[in-house]
Amino acid sequence: MKSMIVLLGPPGSGKGTQGEKLGTELGYVRLSTGDMLREAVRNGTELGKLAKTYMDSGALVPNDVIIGLMKDKINALGKVPGIIFDGFPRTVEQAEALDKELNVDLALNLDVADDILIERLTKRRSCPDCQAVYHLVYNPPKCEGKCDKCGAELYQRDDDKDATVKNRLEVYRKNTLPLVDYYTKAGKIATLNGVGDINAIFEEVKKVIQ
Ligand code: AMP
Repeated sequence: MKSMIVLLGPPGSGKGTQGEKLGTELGYVRLSTGDMLREAVRNGTELGKLAKTYMDSGALVPNDVIIGLMKDKINALGKVPGIIFDGFPRTVEQAEALDKELNVDLALNLDVADDILIERLTKRRSCPDCQAVYHLVYNPPKCEGKCDKCGAELYQRDDDKDATVKNRLEVYRKNTLPLVDYYTKAGKIATLNGVGDINAIFEEVKKVIQ
């Protein structure tokens, strides 16, 4: 089984959902830079204050900040059976930095059309405590407004609001899409259709990581 896996794909393509399943069902450690930054924002740390100025507009947090953060997390983990990188790398510079830390086995690219991404992001609701994600129509919580897993009040991320979503997709195309080429050249890419039933997509994910 592949152990070091990068989840690629635009915002809203299902990286968090599939990454979470890889964690809970197959025991991978999931490292999400977005979750780390949101936690820092909530805790009001220096990192959080800096990151917020970028995140609010859908821009990328500077490479040196993200690379430093990720290196610390990887080193703190020690030896683990496998890591899922969710939302990192997002630039070629970050991918090169990751290659210096460890050997990426697979970049899993989730393919979803723009109109579906917009519909998913703007109707997404998130749990502030356990980071579970829901969709108002396709994956609603059992009890309205409450997280199924921990009962916390769900919220809409500021950057999931209409105005910011379009910018995030542009930022993705400009900065992150080149990574598809980067990992294709390295012979490490697998592209999957990211539209459809969450569990059916997960079955495809499991096939490519074998
Ligand atoms: P996400 O939860 O992965 O959609 O990330 C939310 C926001 O956090 C992004 O829009 C960026 O502002 C920031 N962010 C997360 N990961 C990265 C990264 N690898 N590089 C730069 N900015 C990031």
